[in-house]
Amino acid sequence: MTFKDFNFKDTLNQAIKDAGFTEPSPVQADAIPLILEGHDLIGQAQTGTGKTAAFGLPIIQKMVGNKGVEALVIVPTRELAMQVSDELFRFGKTAKLKTATVYGGTAYNRQIDRIEQANIIVATPGRLQDLLKSKRIKINPSFVVLDEADEMLDMGFLDEIKNIFTYLPEERQTLMFSATMPKQIKILAEQILNSPKSVTITKKERTNTDITQLFYVVADYERDDALLRLIDYKNPNKCIIFCRKKKEVDRLSSYMTAQGFKVGALHGDMEQKQREHTIRSFKQGLVEIFIATDVAARGLDVNDVSHVFNYHIPFDSESYVHRIGRTGRAGNKGEAITLVSPNELRTIKRIEKDVGTIMISEVIPTRQEVQNRKDNDLLSKIINIKVSTSAKEMVKTLQHDIDIVTIAHLLATIVQEEIDVKGKDIIGLGTEEVKALIERAKNWKGGDRNGNRGRGRSRNRSRGGNRGRSGNRHSSSGGNRGSRNGGGNNRGSRNRSEG
Ligand code: ADP
Ligand code: MG
Repeated sequence: MTFKDFNFKDTLNQAIKDAGFTEPSPVQADAIPLILEGHDLIGQAQTGTGKTAAFGLPIIQKMVGNKGVEALVIVPTRELAMQVSDELFRFGKTAKLKTATVYGGTAYNRQIDRIEQANIIVATPGRLQDLLKSKRIKINPSFVVLDEADEMLDMGFLDEIKNIFTYLPEERQTLMFSATMPKQIKILAEQILNSPKSVTITKKERTNTDITQLFYVVADYERDDALLRLIDYKNPNKCIIFCRKKKEVDRLSSYMTAQGFKVGALHGDMEQKQREHTIRSFKQGLVEIFIATDVAARGLDVNDVSHVFNYHIPFDSESYVHRIGRTGRAGNKGEAITLVSPNELRTIKRIEKDVGTIMISEVIPTRQEVQNRKDNDLLSKIINIKVSTSAKEMVKTLQHDIDIVTIAHLLATIVQEEIDVKGKDIIGLGTEEVKALIERAKNWKGGDRNGNRGRGRSRNRSRGGNRGRSGNRHSSSGGNRGSRNGGGNNRGSRNRSEG
């Protein structure tokens, strides 16, 4: 099946093409034809399955475009509101549709102005109810979507939602999406939907096979060490660490920051501006580790999250599914890593059963294993470096005065310094820079410079590959390794893991 099969208008096909979508996801393939036919719909699918486009595309296809607010999407959180409206804006802009977001914590007036201009609004329940109740806005949407309905109920929005519907026209097409279908959701569906069709992406398909799920048994006091070790070993591109409580988010962010990581924290109590800022930094890669509570990270859509860590195993299976769904997105591979204490093994079994998945038990790598991994990474990086002929010539010249091992050593030291101080990547060095380095190598007076160089400074390291976190835990450069591991803090987070 392709998007062509839906016979969308040209502007919409263009938008789909611009978005880089080639093939509808399962929930899209099932839901789009039903929505185009005008049915109310109840859709159940895990996060990351493309629900936004599943309702957004057919709604935009059917929109007339010049009658004020024609589509209303209700979502549980501000982050989701922004995310969904970004996605809908992408699909709607070729048809010149205007999108507005409505959520609490920002000024009313500008929001109202925007709503009055908009064709599509994406709103959180609290602010929307506020605006409708106080008669500051009046809308008459033909399409109403409840996105992440179960989450809205979990957050206690049931009354707001029921109340919102009293302000909406009877004559409308209503769509409801939810990852789970508890009884309350079914009751709500009966109240607001009219002979709905349902689309369910079954359990089997729900577990994303691109996500490897691992768990590590650790004692409670070992969690921090275990986490650090695993992050070192796995060398994530971007990762999210999930905590149960806001307090834990705060503590762990201070701790990880002190360890030299660029950390962003997200929890319910944060100011809107700060939340947006943090999410943006994470998307742009300025923040490499994101520490969050479940609610705060709900629906968070960042494509290149390579690892999700559960600092504690979540209480229920659904949050587990939601959490790990933050990785392995858009066809990428991902790894979900859960730390459990021995008495939580039962929870693992229960989640495996509920979700129909298998979590693989692994043992926290030893310090040596971490180091071997790093050495291998560095080796393969070095082997793949293409050395220019002129650089080779220069080294040959140098060899008259200095033996080759010393040359290599000096260059490595200087290059490491470049990386430490300037955050440069050696691979990016041009001939001129190599020349300058060799000049400095020639003038080198000797002495023991390697080892502690750049300690603490190297944390704004370059991305990818072997990143020079040359602080006290380990060193990324070759040579003189033993002195840097600082012995004492190896509290053996490995031994317990076999339990
Ligand atoms: P959900 O609401 O089910 O959690 P989203 O609608 O947020 O999922 O979609 C997840 C990601 O997948 C988004 O980045 C979206 O742009 C992308 N996506 C959705 N549908 C497709 C598709 N058919 N082809 C490629 N990418 C898609
Ligand atoms: Mg969604």
